[in-house]
Amino acid sequence: MPLSGRRSRLALAIVAGSALLFAALWGRHAIVHAQSAAQNQLTVYSPQTSYSVPLLDANGQPYAGLVELLEPLGSVDARADGKKYKLHFTPPGGRPLELQFTEGKNKGKVRGNGYKLPANFVVQNGRGYVPLSVTSALIAKLLATDTELHAAPRRLFIGNVQVRYTLELHKDNPSRLLLGFSSPVNPSIATEPGRVRLTFRREPIVSSVGENVPYSDPLITGVSFSEHDGLAELDVTGTAPMMANFADGGRTIIVTGAPAPAPVAQAAPAPLPPAPANTQNPTPQPRQPATPRFLVLIDPAHGGSDIGAAITPSLPEKDVVLALARRVQHELANRGIAASLLRNSDVAITLDQRATSANAARPALYIALHAANTGQGVHVFTALLPAANLSPQGFLPWDTAQAAYLELSGSVAGSVAAELESRKLPNTRLLAPLRPMNNIAAPAIAVEIAPPAGTVDEIANAAYQDQVAQSIAAGIAAVRAKLPEVRP
Ligand SMILES: [Zn+2]
Repeated sequence: MPLSGRRSRLALAIVAGSALLFAALWGRHAIVHAQSAAQNQLTVYSPQTSYSVPLLDANGQPYAGLVELLEPLGSVDARADGKKYKLHFTPPGGRPLELQFTEGKNKGKVRGNGYKLPANFVVQNGRGYVPLSVTSALIAKLLATDTELHAAPRRLFIGNVQVRYTLELHKDNPSRLLLGFSSPVNPSIATEPGRVRLTFRREPIVSSVGENVPYSDPLITGVSFSEHDGLAELDVTGTAPMMANFADGGRTIIVTGAPAPAPVAQAAPAPLPPAPANTQNPTPQPRQPATPRFLVLIDPAHGGSDIGAAITPSLPEKDVVLALARRVQHELANRGIAASLLRNSDVAITLDQRATSANAARPALYIALHAANTGQGVHVFTALLPAANLSPQGFLPWDTAQAAYLELSGSVAGSVAAELESRKLPNTRLLAPLRPMNNIAAPAIAVEIAPPAGTVDEIANAAYQDQVAQSIAAGIAAVRAKLPEVRP
């Protein structure tokens, strides 16, 4: 399509802007990954809360800060005076208990009685530290409760907080593994071919069925439990790609085979043989191809350990986009349009997996959802690719599968932007080389929601999200007739 001079300049401005935005997106994600690196810390599980305590290396062993260890369990008043260190700990509803130690000495006093540490007390920058190995006994003495320290994996359990799990393998086709938990859990889930890894940072998961459970099953070959760096992991191994879903309010996680990816190259359906002339003797009918249908596939970006952007310290992008995805699905249903979600729980999915799942689902339209804490309003993206004279029926190169659909994608983006405009929501149309959009063999757009105006947490405001979801759904409904239905 020839562009007028003015529109060319506009297009260039859009491309330059999107490159910046794209760089910003990647910058944010890189920061998130750096922060998730394992740190030297102790995870403490108490009946009220789970928390982490940074550890210090001293005298050839790990030490834990007394204030950091005790503060989440009651109130703490600590003072260092020269080499003398005194701390008052008051458990909820209890009386203050006194601890006294001296820097460089292993003898101290707890609740008025002599108390010998396994190594010398350490004071650094006015803060007192005790050896990690004594934290369990010390807290048991202060709270008069059972405690258990897993020293090497840096996990401390206070009271009967342990969460146990059961395993149940159903030899369906494909097989299903049910992991049952004694309390609801919310692990981050990472998948790679032949493996699903559940990582528990805040849940006091312990093994009750042995560290390794092998299975002789065509799909699921085993489950192993491990704990390290203040967390626990359950690894499910298998012979093919698998996926995990939550059920029963987080008390059950179901691991099954992932749907097989469809090849991107799509052959035209074979012509039907002529109908048999003799209809009196019913003969087996040739299998009818499935009826074409119109399905919108919504892809809430990020998930699991990939939190996306931290919209606020307690609001990750992955949660904002999942909530928005469900609203869009609801608004589409109100308009008689079927939609499904590429992820409907807090799971990590790679970009390649997203693209293969999306192409296997054969949607009439793919829509990715992102959220940002910078900027204002709603950004509507289509892929930045050279428009190609590729026929959607022919072979589509993986890296640029979207090229054949750019015109239809642009129609959808324009229609959504118009609906945003009519609802007086600030909006911007952008082009960006965003994956997995470039690999999608269907019309595709990405929508990035930023706060409307004012404070960042308004991004989670239900009325605002509803307005955005209505704009997206109405925009899709308005161009539905242009988008071909697809045989599943
Ligand atoms: Zn994002």
